[in-house]
Amino acid sequence: MTGLCTQPPAIRPARYLALLTVVAALLHAACVGNNDHVREFVAFGTLVSVSIYGADEQQAANAIGQLERRFAELGTAWYPKADGELKAANAAIAQGKPAHVSSELKSLLQDAARYEQLAGGLFNVCLGNLSQLWGFYDLPASPASLPDPATLAAVLASNPSATQLSWQGLELSSSNPHVMLDIGAIAKGAILNIAARELKTAGLENAIVNIGGDLIVLGDVHGRDANIGIRDPSGGRPVASLQVANGEAVFTSGNYERYVDIDGQRYTHILDPATGYPVQHTASVTVVHEDPVLADAAATALLVGGAPQFDRLVAAFALRDALLIPARGDARLTAHMAARLHWQEPDHQEPALD
Ligand code: AMP
Ligand code: MG
Repeated sequence: MTGLCTQPPAIRPARYLALLTVVAALLHAACVGNNDHVREFVAFGTLVSVSIYGADEQQAANAIGQLERRFAELGTAWYPKADGELKAANAAIAQGKPAHVSSELKSLLQDAARYEQLAGGLFNVCLGNLSQLWGFYDLPASPASLPDPATLAAVLASNPSATQLSWQGLELSSSNPHVMLDIGAIAKGAILNIAARELKTAGLENAIVNIGGDLIVLGDVHGRDANIGIRDPSGGRPVASLQVANGEAVFTSGNYERYVDIDGQRYTHILDPATGYPVQHTASVTVVHEDPVLADAAATALLVGGAPQFDRLVAAFALRDALLIPARGDARLTAHMAARLHWQEPDHQEPALD
C-alpha cells in the first residue's frame, strides 16, 4: 500500500527451489487477441495490470478507467499517511474518540480481527506504531539506526490488537489509544474483491487484475484457466507456473518487497508482533484461495510464522494451496500446491512434501 522499493533479494539459500522468491507474473501476454485489452497503471505505489478478455473495446476501456479511479481513491483512503479515512480513524483512536468509517473498511477490520485470532497474534493490523518506528512510512529513506530498544519495548508493551476495536454501526472505537491501524497486509485482498465486483457489474466476465504480483482471475482466458508464472524476482524467467481457475486469487508475501537498509543490513517491512523485529527467516509465501482477503492475510501470517509454523497455520486458515520459501533450507508446500505447480527448469529439485 505504500511507496515501492522493489529490489532482488540478497538471500542465497542452498537448494535450487529455495533460491526462488515468488512473484506472480502473467504468462498469457502472447495470447492476447483482438477482443483482449490490457492496461497498466500505478496505484498503491505499485504496478497494476488489468487484462480483460473477449470484450468490446469501449466497454473494457470504461471499466478499466473506473477501476483506476477507484484504486486511486482507495490508495488515499487506506494508507495510514494519506489524508483518508484510515488516517482519520487513527487520529481519533489516539485521542480516545470514535471514528466513522466506510462499510468496506469495517468489514476489512472485522476480517483482520478474525485472522489475528486464527494466526495466534502473528497477523496484527494494529501495529502501525511499530512500522512507524522502523521507518517504513518514510521510504525510500532508511533510518540511520535501529529503533531505540526502550522505545521498541514500550511500543510492544502497549499491546495493540484488533480485539480492542469495537463497533456501533459504522462508528469505530478502540479501548487502546496505542492502536494504529495499518491494513497493508490485507487491503489488496479487499481491493481485488472490489475490482471483481465492479468488473462483473460492468458485464465483464473474463479478466485478470494484478496488483504488484497479487492477483485475481475472473472467468477464463479464451476458454482455459489462466496460466500464472512464478518467477525469480532477481529478474529471471518464470521457473514454475500454475493454472488459476475462475474466482481464485494468488497472493505472495515476500521479505524482498519493501525494506529499510540500516548499517548495511536489510530489514523487511513484515514485522513479528512478538519481537517487534522484521522477519528474516522466510523469503516468501504464496497462497492461492478463492477469498482474496483470506489469501492476503494468510500469506502474511505464514511469512511471519515461517517453516516451523507452516503446518499449524495451513490448518488454522484451512489452506489447500500454500508454498513457503525459507531464507535457508527446504521449501514447504501443501500436497495440493505441489500437484498444481509446473516446474519450468529441467534440472530443478522437487521439494519435499508435507
Ligand atoms: P503483505 O505484503 O500483504 O505481506 O503486507 C505487508 C504489510 O503488512 C507491511 O507493509 C505492513 O504494512 C503490514 N504488516 C507488517 N507486519 C505485519 C504483521 N505481522 N501483521 C499484519 N500486518 C503486518
Ligand atoms: Mg498480505
